[in-house]
Amino acid sequence: MLYQRSSTLFEEAYKYIPGGVNSPVRAFKSVGGVPIFMKYAKGAYLTDEDDRNYIDYINSWGPAILGHTHPEVLEALKLQAEKGFSFGAPTELETEIAKYIVENVPNVDQIRMVSSGTEACMSAIRLARGYTEREKIIKFEGCYHGHSDSFLIQAGSGMATFGSPNSPGVTQGTAKDTLLAEYNNIEQVEELFKNNPEQIAAIIVEPIAGNMGCILPENQFLQNLRRICDENGALLIFDEVMTGFRLAFGGAQEALGVKADLVTYGKVIGGGLPVGAFAGRNEIMNWLSPRGRVYQAGTLSGNPLAMRAGLKTLQLIKEDADFYKKLDKTTETLDFEIGKILNEKGIRHRINRKGSMMSIFFDVTSASNFNEVNNSNIGLFNNLFHQVLEQGIYLPPSGYETWFISSAIGDTEIDKTLEAFRKFQY
Ligand code: PLP
Repeated sequence: MLYQRSSTLFEEAYKYIPGGVNSPVRAFKSVGGVPIFMKYAKGAYLTDEDDRNYIDYINSWGPAILGHTHPEVLEALKLQAEKGFSFGAPTELETEIAKYIVENVPNVDQIRMVSSGTEACMSAIRLARGYTEREKIIKFEGCYHGHSDSFLIQAGSGMATFGSPNSPGVTQGTAKDTLLAEYNNIEQVEELFKNNPEQIAAIIVEPIAGNMGCILPENQFLQNLRRICDENGALLIFDEVMTGFRLAFGGAQEALGVKADLVTYGKVIGGGLPVGAFAGRNEIMNWLSPRGRVYQAGTLSGNPLAMRAGLKTLQLIKEDADFYKKLDKTTETLDFEIGKILNEKGIRHRINRKGSMMSIFFDVTSASNFNEVNNSNIGLFNNLFHQVLEQGIYLPPSGYETWFISSAIGDTEIDKTLEAFRKFQY
């Protein structure tokens, strides 16, 4: 049996951890089968408990943009660990990474570190509500902003995987303050503002959506959101947990040329350690405690090990002038060659890609919102997933997820991946 030890470990984990995993999408519920337990990660590869190697297209769901266990990040971490794991007091390193980000990202004067993307989005919403003195927010169907209560409403990937649009435990009171619109549908947003005058604090959006597969903003969608927020005194929050430092160093703000009022980060910013952050202009960020009255805190926020891994990762990206060009080229090659193979096989599909994020949707010609993604052939994706997995290609275990390409993927890995796709039988 291929995944012998993983099966045994999963059985054991199931007894002590709800569902056997510490984050739902890892459980392979969407694609079926036993989740694979990993023991090593290096460069483009993961090694499982049965000693099988995989080319990784998840990359820890985005953080490992340099590939896994980059030697220079590892070295920086070792040196930092010698100095102490956590001080619960300010460090120079926290200012160093904050300054580095503020100086290299457009439209951001201050940044507050937290420990996850969820915390970043949750805190950005509180800040927007405090700043505008309004209570409602708009989010888009299929967008995910973490598992905080106000966001668990039509929240894409993990939730879509389980077919439960709302989670029990989220109160009606909370849900009523989250207004929903279809991604790429600006008329619906206009309508919500018309029906809720001076009540909407913020629009939160994934500028490139990655949690219903990779969905691109169309027809000046983001520019129109910017305009509507300005016209109505609401804040525009870009959730750049996936896109930050991935699409460009300055994330979607830089890559797409649209300014947000608040930006949330996660994933790449921590280089594989648990980090999130939110950032914005002084006039808004000054409202945060302890300077302002909007409360936000965290015991391990700005943790020295996490800051060191994050800073080193960001520096390595920034030092390579062609970093994004190369990463985009790798992804473009995968997109083009996989598309060619699927066309040769006569498989109707659509590949969406921006920078180093991409997804394949089967049996649809367009994938521009959650509804269209729901109409794609998820069963065919599941079939593909298992066939290429057997050949050592580790795709995200759900047709509602985005692939994250790392700079460790080179020609050898691309060739092996294409070979696996050529063998795909449907
Ligand atoms: N926002 C986006 C766009 C995400 O993709 C995620 C996680 O995948 C989050 C927020 C939540 O981040 P975390 O899982 O670190 O809490």
